[in-house]
Amino acid sequence: MSQVIGRFAPTPSGRMHLGNALSCLIAWLSARSQGGSVILRVEDLDPERSSWEYMRDIEAELHWLGLDWDAGGVDADDHAWCQSRRSEIYTEYFEQLREMGLVYPCFCSRAQLHAASAPHRSDGRFIYQGTCRNLSAEEIAEKSKTRLPAWRLQVPDREVSFCDLHYGDYTENLSEECGDFIIRRADGVYAYQLAAALDDGLMGVTEVVRGNDLLSSSPRQIWLHELFGFAPPRYGHIPLLTASDGRRLSKRDGDLDIETLSKRYRPEEVVGMLGHIAGLTEEYRTMTAKELIPLFDWKKIPMEDIRLPDGFPERLV
Ligand code: GLU
Repeated sequence: MSQVIGRFAPTPSGRMHLGNALSCLIAWLSARSQGGSVILRVEDLDPERSSWEYMRDIEAELHWLGLDWDAGGVDADDHAWCQSRRSEIYTEYFEQLREMGLVYPCFCSRAQLHAASAPHRSDGRFIYQGTCRNLSAEEIAEKSKTRLPAWRLQVPDREVSFCDLHYGDYTENLSEECGDFIIRRADGVYAYQLAAALDDGLMGVTEVVRGNDLLSSSPRQIWLHELFGFAPPRYGHIPLLTASDGRRLSKRDGDLDIETLSKRYRPEEVVGMLGHIAGLTEEYRTMTAKELIPLFDWKKIPMEDIRLPDGFPERLV
């Protein structure tokens, strides 16, 4: 088998949360258990939400957890792994898609989009109905006078399927279940879908492991890989972490960020707890990330959301 390359791809818009730590731990264990390497990409596309200071904290927290990487990081290679520094590359590929005739400007306002869109079956996403798909050159020129357009990628009426490392077969008809999607925002910032797929391709990533809130992004990303002529990576999605009462964690749960937890617990306590609730150990015990490598097995990881133990974070288990 060829060399496995996994990745961490945090968005540095805040401190690292326990849920991010779980995703990074599983991504790292999956790659390392196959003798693979890991890269660290900085998803700081949105300049208003991201900061390199946060990224440096995240790197320190990954180190604290015992999760290392072989390439990448905010200050490595003159910041070449930061998406905020890669917009020329994205432009080059965006132009390729334009030349293929697959990209068009969209002038719809948020309100128009909501009014005209059918909600997606389960995840509340809106399906774009193609309102701006066939505008004439005159209409585009006219609309451009008052509004900067976002740019959408036309999707085919075709099913995109893949076999998720954890959830198994997953199929989506892009035109019925997603619609043409934005690859560049009106302010010129490239969209996550384009940047993530392109960077996974250009950085040689063979395995993408992340939270299952991104499961439904994978067909779009696979389709972008196909358009750019890359072999898509394998995808493995993991359940989300919730509070002990099942509530979704949010950034407001400040006591669950790694920095706060690191004042109370040792890394092998936190990693041992994560390994245990992720199903890798039957009983809670302190564990380093390295010690979990031989225990890693996708089959042990639950399919449903993973709840934090009662009384956490005052008590660990
Ligand atoms: N940057 C995303 C996040 O921090 C992850 C994207 C991905 O793994 O594809 O949630």
